Amino acid sequence: MRVTLKGHESFYGVGDIVRLFFDEPKENREEGFVECQGCDELEIVSQVGDRIVKSFVTNSDDLRYRDLSVERNINEDGIPSKREVKRQLYELLSQITGKSFPWGSLTGIRPTIVARELNSASELTSKYLVREDKAKRAIETARNEDMVLARQGPDALNVYVGVPFCPSRCEYCSFISQDITKHMDLLHDYSVALMREIEGIGRGLELLGREVSTVYFGGGTPTVFEDRDFANVVECFGRSVKLAKNCEFTIEAGRPDTINEFKLRKMREAGVQRVCINPQTMCDETLRRLNRKHNSKDVLDCIELSRKVGFEIINTDLIAGLKYEDASQLNRSLEVLFDYEPENITIHSLYKKKNARMSREDCLSTNNGRGSVDEEVSKAYDSLDGRGYSPYYMYRQKDTGFGLENVGFAKEGTECLYNVAMMSDRADVLAIGAGAISKRVFEGNRIERCPCVKDAIGYMNRVDEMIDRKMKFFE
Ligand code: SF4
Repeated sequence: MRVTLKGHESFYGVGDIVRLFFDEPKENREEGFVECQGCDELEIVSQVGDRIVKSFVTNSDDLRYRDLSVERNINEDGIPSKREVKRQLYELLSQITGKSFPWGSLTGIRPTIVARELNSASELTSKYLVREDKAKRAIETARNEDMVLARQGPDALNVYVGVPFCPSRCEYCSFISQDITKHMDLLHDYSVALMREIEGIGRGLELLGREVSTVYFGGGTPTVFEDRDFANVVECFGRSVKLAKNCEFTIEAGRPDTINEFKLRKMREAGVQRVCINPQTMCDETLRRLNRKHNSKDVLDCIELSRKVGFEIINTDLIAGLKYEDASQLNRSLEVLFDYEPENITIHSLYKKKNARMSREDCLSTNNGRGSVDEEVSKAYDSLDGRGYSPYYMYRQKDTGFGLENVGFAKEGTECLYNVAMMSDRADVLAIGAGAISKRVFEGNRIERCPCVKDAIGYMNRVDEMIDRKMKFFE
């Protein structure tokens, strides 16, 4: 199939819609079209003129589609022409393929941005063809995001510390994370470099007079370090970086096989209040086949240990649609977690990451006889509602399995402010560690980003340069 663009250059938007229905699209900017495998004889024109936006089929083997066309005035319904181009293409492809997707023509990674503009679920449905339940969820989440973000002043600084190492590589992962079974030797040196950067940034922040409102250690798996190295890093952070009075401090422990009582106690001593322990599924066979080195009992033991050590807020992540299990496993996993009452539960939808070992078909096929992921996700949301959890942040990824989304749920008052601040693009984030990207938000929502060297060895060799680069960025 080929979509020819006339009078506009919305290659990304057109590509995003094509990707929903068919395979990975290819752009040809010189000749002005996007094409993909599938429906080979189908040709569509997407045209933006002075007054109208129009999309029509020019050629098709199938007579039913030959004269298909949609046309609207520019800014009709208050929809900017870039979004109208996507809406029209979605409408045409939906008619041609008989398929529809939960988020309709919204393909952006933050549906709550559009939800916030509209303020009503019915508008999201009528203007962007978003399914009613998703539209309501987006509106509710957008309101909660605003409430959580209001806890932070306009000058707040959020700090991220990245540890791109994991004890093994999950099958669905494409992150640059290094599998420590192959890079054990690097881990200690990385902790030393990280501390050097933390100290440098701490000094710089003091000069700038900026206090830190939230801290998030993520990865990879930040708890992957040996006990002593881990303790040194968190102690170094506590001593070097001045935190605001009620600073929120989260460490993503992630893999239960990297957590022990010593590390948890060191976290508490450094002021960490929140820990993430991520099962992804409570099915042992799936965990084994995904190459995660823990089982479901390890997750539960870890939750109990964290409580014993004094953590009041625990987040757990689950992934819907994992290969090797029925879609209904999501709700079985959720029921097990409910008994342990984590304050936050995040439901992710599997998506096809570029470099993952899992294929696109593994992630996106709906004809796998494993049941409807979409239905199971909706059921999971209902169960979370019934247990007093509310959605407080939401994002989507390209090629999300089954066109779904990721949603963080929390019991009231336990929401993770860092997650909302980082996702919102409305707050500054200073990011420490290899591959971490800092972000500044200026007046008028202008955003600038400052990347750190991606690979761990490059980072370790250039850590002083990274400190200077970031401090200049935040001047
Ligand atoms: S824990 Fe996360 S970052 Fe690490 S290998 Fe698994 S998916 Fe990748």
